[in-house]
Amino acid sequence: MFIAFGFIAYLPWSKLFHIFTSSANQFFRNFGPRGALTKLDLEDENAESFGVGKIEEFTWKQLFDTDACTRCGRCQDNCPAYLSGKPLSPKQMTQDLKANLDERGSVLIKQKSRKTPAEGPARQETAADEATAAILDKSLAGGVIEEETLWACTTCKACEEQCPVFVEHVQKTVDMRRYMVLTESQFPAEAQLAFKNMENNGNPWGVGMATRADWAKDPGVKTMAEAGQAEVLYWPGCSGAFDDRNKKVATAFVKVMQAAGVDFAILGAEETCCGDSARRLGNEYLYQTLARQNIETMKSYHVKKIVTQCPHCFNTLKNEYPQFGGDFEVIHHSEFIADLIAKGKLNLTKPLDKKVTYHDSCYLGRYNEVYDAPREILKAIPQVDLVEMKHNGSKSFCCGAGGGRMWLEENIGQRINVMRTEEALDVKAEVVGTACPFCLTMIGDGINAREAGEAMAAYDLAELAAAAL
Ligand code: SF4
Ligand code: SF4
Repeated sequence: MFIAFGFIAYLPWSKLFHIFTSSANQFFRNFGPRGALTKLDLEDENAESFGVGKIEEFTWKQLFDTDACTRCGRCQDNCPAYLSGKPLSPKQMTQDLKANLDERGSVLIKQKSRKTPAEGPARQETAADEATAAILDKSLAGGVIEEETLWACTTCKACEEQCPVFVEHVQKTVDMRRYMVLTESQFPAEAQLAFKNMENNGNPWGVGMATRADWAKDPGVKTMAEAGQAEVLYWPGCSGAFDDRNKKVATAFVKVMQAAGVDFAILGAEETCCGDSARRLGNEYLYQTLARQNIETMKSYHVKKIVTQCPHCFNTLKNEYPQFGGDFEVIHHSEFIADLIAKGKLNLTKPLDKKVTYHDSCYLGRYNEVYDAPREILKAIPQVDLVEMKHNGSKSFCCGAGGGRMWLEENIGQRINVMRTEEALDVKAEVVGTACPFCLTMIGDGINAREAGEAMAAYDLAELAAAAL
């Protein structure tokens, strides 16, 4: 009995306490949509700051995460930022937060217990007080966690996918980014440019917003204003509307929908950036402005069903717009095309005769668990030899552009997109199928960087489907 009770008493002071904290952390994990970040109340008049600037501003669950971490290192072993040599390890970040919680927490508790009698005699300043002040003054974002660490994250969620105790890293990173952007106004210069462009022209490139529907003139796509009503709203997103490479994807998807007889229209110049990159870069104010504007526009046309080829738009429209009253049925184009094929509305008959590999987008796969539909499209194209890369499905390797990283320079370590392209070259794929405009750009750049343009090319699934019609 002595040994048994002694062991129980010892548990909270030993590593074995993880038996409880890890289990409890699984029990209290987020059961909401995986891809949704929390909504920040920007109208809170009592708020002294926004985002998380001090450890005690995290929620109790976020703090509990740091206790639950068993330091197994699986998050770090699967983190593209860490593996490419960036100053970010999700394991180290979790441990640094825990150390700060222990240190700062004990100082705050001591201060509190001291204050009650301290309403009495004045105290002498001591060296210990100076050390205490240093602990209290150290900022969390940009101090305990380096600025470079915060901006290195692609929000790919590989860490969360691998973590056996459901530690949630991405929300913490975004909370600290929110503090840097909204309270401190400290963020990379490239992010400033992207924010300004989104604010002024509703797209990160800063192309004039009036030209948003120019790509759709040739394929003869109607806007909602022209059509009045349509069964499906096609959302090309900023990439589909403004980026030359991705305009081809939008055009191919239109061809597919026209072949299947889908009744669709676009918002055209009334569409604005969905705000995904702004939110993930910490600019919640800009995100909410854009989201509210889009929701209002879509509601004015009584939109019910939306299809988009961008997993970032897909994720935020589907999982985050409901936070602002935007409840729509949102479908990714890979699911939409796979469904058209399954229903016999689309016949893919032209053979491709190539070795094809599919690159899972983080925001489609890990965020929304769409893994099968893209592969079903590829299997429906005659003579496609489908091969999988080393990292695939839920263990896929990020292209490096998520979390707003698309708009930031990548100056440290190896380039993540090149590492991913090398995985496709390793399986000797001739075609890399993508289902995300960012992935398409990043893999395309990776192929150019490896001078592998003769052996391999990247295409969106809509392009492959359109070519097989
Ligand atoms: S979300 Fe991705 S890049 Fe960010 S810490 Fe996790 S694994 Fe690393
Ligand atoms: S995978 Fe989870 S438990 Fe393991 S080190 Fe990372 S955060 Fe901690």
